[in-house]
Amino acid sequence: MTDLFQFDKDREASSAAKVRALEALLIEKGVLGSDSVDAVLQHFETMAGPFNGAKIVARAWVDPDYKKRLVADTPKAIAELDLPVGMTGAEGEHMAAVANDEDVHNLIICTLCSCYPWPVLGLPPYWYKDPVFRARGVREPRAVLREFGITVPETKEVKVWDSSAQIRWFVVPERPANTEGFSEEQLASLVTPESMMGVALVAAPAP
Ligand code: FE
Repeated sequence: MTDLFQFDKDREASSAAKVRALEALLIEKGVLGSDSVDAVLQHFETMAGPFNGAKIVARAWVDPDYKKRLVADTPKAIAELDLPVGMTGAEGEHMAAVANDEDVHNLIICTLCSCYPWPVLGLPPYWYKDPVFRARGVREPRAVLREFGITVPETKEVKVWDSSAQIRWFVVPERPANTEGFSEEQLASLVTPESMMGVALVAAPAP
């Protein structure tokens, strides 16, 4: 996927080093307080992140009526749960859930840029912004999904949802096998951000 956009192999480490240098400089120059950096980090560690999405998915798995409400009116259904405040804050406006089932697999992209439901998924991974992923996700979603390790059977429809400033999608993946009797907390621990983007399935735990 990165043939046209040769990312350096040390991209993550080198980006982190650049950010640290920039942060140090901005603090030294008095542009930024170190407490404001901490506040942003803490926000994404405790308030906005995939841990919220995982709780929503787990509730949808144990309560079919909740799942229906979640798909019908996502913000209203999210408000039913005891989640951090700010679920409708930055990048949380107009969130909408789509549910995978035996007939449909859903994939989320943003063809224009990188619109993403921050409160329930956190910040998007860098490849979500990759122009090749954004273009191919629409043109040949099955091929892209195969590269992520999912072969969707031909009998199953693949739906691609284009997030934008007007609507930010996330996926309710299918509940895996071997989870009968699991608590909501145990179920939530299985849910990955990738599964809520539609590029992964939730793996079944060992029986
Ligand atoms: Fe966008």
